[in-house]
Amino acid sequence: MASSKNTTPPWQPAEDVLALWPKQEGKPVSGSLINGLGNEKVHNPVPVFWRHDGSIAHGEVMYHFLDQVDADERAFAARSYKDEIEAIPVSELASQEAENTVEDWVRLVKQAALDAGADQVGICRYQPEWTYSDRPQPKGEWVVVMAFAHDYDTLKTAPDVDSLIEVMDQYGRAGKAAKYLTNWISENGFLSEAKTGPNSEDVLMIPAAIAAGLGELGKHGSMINREFGSNFRLSMVTTDLPLATDQPDVFGADDFCLNCQICTNACPPVAIVPEKQLVRGETKWYVDFDKCVPYFVDNNACGICIAVCPWSRPGIADNLVRKMAIRKERLG
Ligand code: SF4
Ligand code: SF4
Repeated sequence: MASSKNTTPPWQPAEDVLALWPKQEGKPVSGSLINGLGNEKVHNPVPVFWRHDGSIAHGEVMYHFLDQVDADERAFAARSYKDEIEAIPVSELASQEAENTVEDWVRLVKQAALDAGADQVGICRYQPEWTYSDRPQPKGEWVVVMAFAHDYDTLKTAPDVDSLIEVMDQYGRAGKAAKYLTNWISENGFLSEAKTGPNSEDVLMIPAAIAAGLGELGKHGSMINREFGSNFRLSMVTTDLPLATDQPDVFGADDFCLNCQICTNACPPVAIVPEKQLVRGETKWYVDFDKCVPYFVDNNACGICIAVCPWSRPGIADNLVRKMAIRKERLG
């Protein structure tokens, strides 16, 4: 009888990436440990990637990734989304605050976010523990979080360069919407600050998006939204506009992940840990930085895990939400 054992050798990091990986006393510096893996104590995140100010240990690895992107003509052109965001004029802060009820501000700011290009929007109170340990707290006690769906057919080409370009296009849409929304808030006389990926640099966006009702954390370390699955990007705006919080949307994605191994099996460097891990005092799904990043930087920011996640397939999420609700009812 033929054996079904997988004989493909495991993926190995490239020599040039290994050479760039930081070392301390001859040993590779672990980004996962910097991230707070294994820490029982709750503490603010420490920067580990996407920083250009020399504050991260893995800066050379990040620049290697950016060099790879710039070497591809189309990917290099797609990076110009940052210039387009930069070029949007900034509105002046109106001298007087417009007056509205909290209920109306919630409705108006959500409509302004949708008009700015967001596909979904949620609101929560900003938590100081979402700010990186070396950065000041952003303006305002509220945060408006926006979601921007990818084109699924392009994303599923991951880790092809087309998928990377699609990701950058959505970061462009997300960044522009955040800037338009800050302008709208300024014109109404309130303070605000735009936070956009992937280089938001000073705040974590995923915990805010979860608190704002945009989805649950998946085993692949990205979010799962009840409509888009994992097929979306985020941006957000903090503000002192008087708002009210949405509630987290718990629709069964976390439970689904407990029994699903699709992303774990699809990840070439085996970076997706099958069990939840203790990270900065919280037990949650966690992707091993030290395994993911060497593959990510040499393979167009990868994205295989979000492309293969069954929730990402258009038209599937609704069915899965229904199945998880029935399952929950049966289990009481
Ligand atoms: S991005 Fe790629 S390497 Fe990183 S966890 Fe996802 S599948 Fe694995
Ligand atoms: S592929 Fe499966 S385990 Fe991975 S995030 Fe999606 S549902 Fe969860």
